[in-house]
Amino acid sequence: MNWLLPRFVLAALAVVAGVFFGHWVGRLLHLPFLSEALSAAIAVVALVIVDAVRGHRLLQWLRGPQLDAAPRDAGIWGELGYRVERAVRERDKVIASERLQLEQFLSAIDASPNGVLMLDAQDHIHWCNRVAADHFSLDPVRDLRQRVTNLLRSPAFVSFLHTESYETPLLLSNVRGFGTLSVVVKRYGDGMKLVLSQDITERERSDAMRRDFVANVSHEIRTPLTVLAGFIETMLSLPLTVAERTRVLTLMGQQTDRMQGLVSDLLTLAQLEGSPRPTADRWLGLDALLARINSDAVALSGGRHQLKVQLDTQVELAGVESELLSAAANLVNNAVRYTPAGGEIDVSWRELGDGSGELCVSDTGLGIAREHLPRLTERFYRVDGSRSRETGGTGLGLSIVKHVMHRHGGELQIESEPGKGSKFRLALPAIRVRHVGEPALGVEAANAPR
Ligand code: ADP
Repeated sequence: MNWLLPRFVLAALAVVAGVFFGHWVGRLLHLPFLSEALSAAIAVVALVIVDAVRGHRLLQWLRGPQLDAAPRDAGIWGELGYRVERAVRERDKVIASERLQLEQFLSAIDASPNGVLMLDAQDHIHWCNRVAADHFSLDPVRDLRQRVTNLLRSPAFVSFLHTESYETPLLLSNVRGFGTLSVVVKRYGDGMKLVLSQDITERERSDAMRRDFVANVSHEIRTPLTVLAGFIETMLSLPLTVAERTRVLTLMGQQTDRMQGLVSDLLTLAQLEGSPRPTADRWLGLDALLARINSDAVALSGGRHQLKVQLDTQVELAGVESELLSAAANLVNNAVRYTPAGGEIDVSWRELGDGSGELCVSDTGLGIAREHLPRLTERFYRVDGSRSRETGGTGLGLSIVKHVMHRHGGELQIESEPGKGSKFRLALPAIRVRHVGEPALGVEAANAPR
């Protein structure tokens, strides 16, 4: 009510001014009866003019964007202006906070790893995040308000969008031509639709790998089992001579060895995948490891090859002995199995300038064609399946080697040429290599798991 007093004061001033002016005009014109009427009229006019000016100023401010303060007039107009300005500022604050919330919400959806596409009741694009734009090759700005089916013309997508029930997700090949998308639609609001997309290429690939793996293992086990079953049946149904019996039992033993080899390699792979990475503080002598590899190779080759194994490296390696032994033994084993009699097999250690080193197993055997090289470390991948099986191979050897090297921060490098031979290198980082008697690298570095 603090506008009331100025208003009374103003009215009183207008009346006083009207009385003086009316009295003066009345005397001037010698019409004293006019003075009262004039004074009242002047007071009213003065009040109306002041009100009109103040009201106009407030109206002007209200018509504008209300960025500056409302006119600070005294009286009711000032109070009105102040109240309206306060209401406007409160509304602006609410709008700004809601806008901020909306922006945060949209940027959260934008950061989602899944695609989000909002469609109105007529399937016009209302909004989409960057992932959806990428999945469906849309432009998040240019394509807004476009009908989605004009841009995504895949018949599968169009008919899916128009079905009544979206219970099963649609599997769609990525519009850019590679990979698979899983698309889900949810209805919301008044006929609006939310299209959610997820890139499931990796999941599909690992599912396919798992299926292939199970199929491969079953196949590898079924073959020797069938052979064993056949032999057992033969032994049960036919009277065999001692020589025949010995031959059948020998063949049965070979099949059992094959299955044992397979199960043992599968267990090794599972162990490698399931155990933590080896630390770099357990040192083992490379020469002792090479000596064991040498004696195994000599036994396996049975004098058919010229074997040369470097036994005086004076080097120590950091890692898990059984794993490094298994990796090197697998390579030497392969060299013996894939090198015809009379060929050369060479195992040597080489140090590189940066302190790292590599164990190189080279042979003058069959060699491998270039197109097979990238796939050699895949499980059960074989260039020559029959030779691999005949020589007791499981198809898992190089896969194990790759895993071991990866766990030790190193890598398996392969060079080969058909008819000339192959070179397999186990490259280890400097942190895992030292000379006998040399202090280890910095304690911190050496303790770091690699
Ligand atoms: P396998 O048990 O069949 O030997 P690996 O994983 O050890 O399985 O090797 C995969 C394939 O790579 C082998 O089947 C063979 O065809 C090829 N291979 C491996 N080492 C050699 C080599 N030294 N010379 C020629 N081919 C090789």
